[in-house]
Amino acid sequence: MTEHPNTLDQFTIVSSQVKSELKTGVVPVVYTGGSHYEIGRQIGEEQRDKVVKMLVSYRQMLASAEDELGLDWDRAILHSRKYQPFIEEFLPQYLDEVRGIADGAGVDFDDLLVLNSIEALTSDALHLKCTSIAAAGEVTADGTVLIGHNEDWLPEDQELQFLVHAIPDDEPPFLAMTYGGLLPNIGFNAAGIAQACDSVYPNDARLGVPRVFVSRKVLSAQTISDAIRATLLRRRAAGYNHLIADSNGEIYNVEVSATAFDAIYAQEGYAVHCNNYLSPLMLGYEDHTEDLIGTRVRVNRARRLMQQRLGRLTVRDFKEILSDHVNYPNSICGHEDPSDPPMDRSRTICSLIIDLQERVMWYCYGPPCSGEYVPYRLEVR
Ligand SMILES: [Zn+2]
Repeated sequence: MTEHPNTLDQFTIVSSQVKSELKTGVVPVVYTGGSHYEIGRQIGEEQRDKVVKMLVSYRQMLASAEDELGLDWDRAILHSRKYQPFIEEFLPQYLDEVRGIADGAGVDFDDLLVLNSIEALTSDALHLKCTSIAAAGEVTADGTVLIGHNEDWLPEDQELQFLVHAIPDDEPPFLAMTYGGLLPNIGFNAAGIAQACDSVYPNDARLGVPRVFVSRKVLSAQTISDAIRATLLRRRAAGYNHLIADSNGEIYNVEVSATAFDAIYAQEGYAVHCNNYLSPLMLGYEDHTEDLIGTRVRVNRARRLMQQRLGRLTVRDFKEILSDHVNYPNSICGHEDPSDPPMDRSRTICSLIIDLQERVMWYCYGPPCSGEYVPYRLEVR
């Protein structure tokens, strides 16, 4: 095994570099293209500091939770290798992207495979939150299709975020967010397909293709049925909720577990989702149901805020809804709850609103209640 660059000394240096870069609240964009390996390599080269910092902080997280998880970093590497043959079989192109990120950043591929499988490796011990909302043209003020998402994740990862604007050789161009060494998955492509992902907690997780790889595949879809099919990869390890929309205003919440799914079509022109399964078909696949009360409160709150504005929804309304503080700190705009154990401590690290007609992503670094949304455009058709 080669020498790891991710020492604690380097952590401190990298941390201050990253902080100064993000002082302005404007996130960096990696403009890239070519083969999957080449896309990964350019991401790794440009965002090396963030990849390294994520490796250091996830090593520390696993070390601090070793009693709970029984998983040190070396065991995590061994465990992640069990997932690798499934990725090789079904989605080898995205394993190439991970290889590219590793080579570009000068870190071990094995370490990055752990990051991209972390939810599977920790058996969903990370109880994290997210909120997604979408509106079709008939309920927006000017007929645009809007998709909004608050990404709630570990507070330490906030400074690791960036956008990827990619023109792959064999897929539609896309604009998507990611952080550290993870594959991009939340965003939209030039075929007019948008995706937001929300963690769910299925009880049928198994060895297979980890969720991050499955959701990366959705960004390659040419049609909405392609996108839904991508979430249902035959040998998936678990599942997310994928809120998927197209530029015609077709909107679905695709709730997925390892062995089951339901595709819920938007009612009254809009959809919301948080971290609990909504479909009666999927309720039997939900683990930790009693821990998921905060997410039920958020989903109902988001639904009510959307209903109050139906027919006149704008990007500004989406900003207001995504900044809502009812049930603080477990609100739609999420903040840390100091009474939560460290693995459950999360906050909204970024918020985004996609306008599928304008092909613009309004992106807010940090919680939307105190941040500013900046527009980023997908420049290719
Ligand atoms: Zn807030």
